[in-house]
Amino acid sequence: MHFDNYGGEAARLAAELANLTGPPAPDDLEPLLAAHGIVRRRLTAAQAEDLWAWSRSLAVCFGRQGLEERCEAVNSLLAEASSAPRISLHDGRPHLHYSAPGSDAAAHIRAVTAAGLAYVVCSAAPERLGRCARATCGLAFVDTSRNGRRTYCSVRCANNDAVARHRARSGRQG
Ligand SMILES: [Zn+2]
Ligand SMILES: [Zn+2]
Repeated sequence: MHFDNYGGEAARLAAELANLTGPPAPDDLEPLLAAHGIVRRRLTAAQAEDLWAWSRSLAVCFGRQGLEERCEAVNSLLAEASSAPRISLHDGRPHLHYSAPGSDAAAHIRAVTAAGLAYVVCSAAPERLGRCARATCGLAFVDTSRNGRRTYCSVRCANNDAVARHRARSGRQG
């Protein structure tokens, strides 16, 4: 299985946006957008606000849920993002651009993240849009592991949970 730019990077950006805990300032968004290959990342306050609302819809797509429910959630993102995808040849090789040149920067990010989630659902596996199993965490993540059985957002959460389980077991025994 293989995550290309959109399936991997765009879905991971969707997870990061889903994990925002409050309306972000444009300055806070910029490094996050840069880390995931978004070129137009100087946003206005209004665009940042727009993405905060969008991030709440992205959040709905992660975690344990039925296939139909997940597809419906991603479909409503695609419908809302409806952007004019097109094949571009600007670097010599045909590849999809998910919004028209000159589209609004926030609209572009909406289109890319919706497409990224759709790509994971259709080309990888829906369960790969996960949420951390550690009760006190619950962060959204994209499982790009080979076997697709990741249950924690990070090694740190996996280790903390393992320690907690070990303590609970020792407690019962002793
Ligand atoms: Zn391109
Ligand atoms: Zn976690």
